[in-house]
Amino acid sequence: MVFFILINMSEHYKVLARRYRPQRFQDVVEQTHAISALENAIKENRLGSAYLFYGPRGVGKTTIARILAKRVNCLNPQGVEPCNECESCKEILNGSSLDVIEIDAASNRRIEDIRDLRENVKFKPIIGKKKVYIIDEVHMLTKESFNALLKTLEEPPEHVLFILATTEINKIPETILSRCQIFTFRKVPIIRLQKYLEEIAKKENIQVEKDALFLIAKKGDGSVRDSLSFFEQIISYCDGNITADKVRELTDSFSIDIMIQITHNLLNNSSPDELLKPIVDIFNDGGDLERFIWEYLEFLRICILIHKGIKDKDLLGLIGEDIEKISNLVQNIPFEKLFTIFDEIYQLKSRSYFLRIKNTYEARILIEVSLLKIHDKLHKPSLDEIIHDLNQLSKLFEGKDITEENLFKHTNTENPIQNELKKNLIENTNIKTKSEVEKEITENTNQENSEKNNTKNEFLNLLNKAKSENKQTFIQKEFNLEDEIQSKFLGTYITDENKIPKLPNN
Ligand SMILES: [Zn+2]
Repeated sequence: MVFFILINMSEHYKVLARRYRPQRFQDVVEQTHAISALENAIKENRLGSAYLFYGPRGVGKTTIARILAKRVNCLNPQGVEPCNECESCKEILNGSSLDVIEIDAASNRRIEDIRDLRENVKFKPIIGKKKVYIIDEVHMLTKESFNALLKTLEEPPEHVLFILATTEINKIPETILSRCQIFTFRKVPIIRLQKYLEEIAKKENIQVEKDALFLIAKKGDGSVRDSLSFFEQIISYCDGNITADKVRELTDSFSIDIMIQITHNLLNNSSPDELLKPIVDIFNDGGDLERFIWEYLEFLRICILIHKGIKDKDLLGLIGEDIEKISNLVQNIPFEKLFTIFDEIYQLKSRSYFLRIKNTYEARILIEVSLLKIHDKLHKPSLDEIIHDLNQLSKLFEGKDITEENLFKHTNTENPIQNELKKNLIENTNIKTKSEVEKEITENTNQENSEKNNTKNEFLNLLNKAKSENKQTFIQKEFNLEDEIQSKFLGTYITDENKIPKLPNN
């Protein structure tokens, strides 16, 4: 079955790619910057002798090189375009032209290959005006080959035009770059690719949902060739009716709904079972949890962008329905909470990389523990909330902000003997008599007083620090204020008798 689909796909691909390869400048998708520069040079008859086309794969570098080669050799040019019908154009179209030579530098990178080229450039073109050398993946040439090529570029014969194409300009020597006119090619925006696929679907009479085309274009990642190739796979797979759901099935993407569920569980008071269930489900269905980490990170990026008010489909890479779902999820969530989740998942991603996790089970362990940790973190009171509570606490004492004086006055009025006895009873262990306690208290009084003073000072330092220091720096130090306060303040000074009443939320 799989074998059949593969064969079917490749046949479709050849057919579509051949049928829709642009043969004129005006048919090329995007790259208007490079095209208009070339068109102007043609109009004003000032074409250079060497061009370098630089940009990602599948965006039209070789296509434009071929159109240019046809135009300079066309016997009957139509303005800036080649006629595509004369002898020269036809030979170039069917690949039999002796005037246009295409070299794949990935497989002809040796010095001998370039020496051959240097020998051949001497010969004049046979039909057209120029001998055109299109060298694809030119960054793959060896150092010696670059040196040999440079000699030709330095003194090119009148009848030669070089068009070099590369995806990695940083690997090309400066000496070569300085001899070329450099054109940068860009990825094609998703919306533009979608429109292009829509035109093809119409011409081919294929029924396809708009959202499906958007997802196909997204998968193409800015490349016309890749989008087209993926479109053909989908055509074979769907057999007539192409829907967004079927495209998702084939891209093997995790559904937005699962991501939304996980985020919803994190933000709400979910049980650990609820929290982990989606991950266990993915695992049991044989899903790739390593890839899930990456996709979830991408999803969180989108949540943050939508939270910041961005709605551009192209930028978000999402169909309208999904944007709406995510808007509903994030609309009432504080930004910091989203950022906390993003930050933790980003760390998870880095950890999974450094740990070199080998399988989806290892990924599952990391994800589960991370989700529990994030949930815990999101539902602990924030520093703001703690300071707010402390101020509420101080109001219960004096109606003022907390000061040493008004905070500790109350604890000084405690009867330590009574408290200790009470504590004994509550803990129900090793119950002591009143005289035993009195003796112990007296012995410990001096030491305890000094301990109390230390603790008191420490607490006040903490509080001042929390109030004055920049909150971000404070958190970065991973200082757990809440625990500090509980152990140093509440644990020491608040007894059962003067227990703080539960603070109102506001
Ligand atoms: Zn022609």
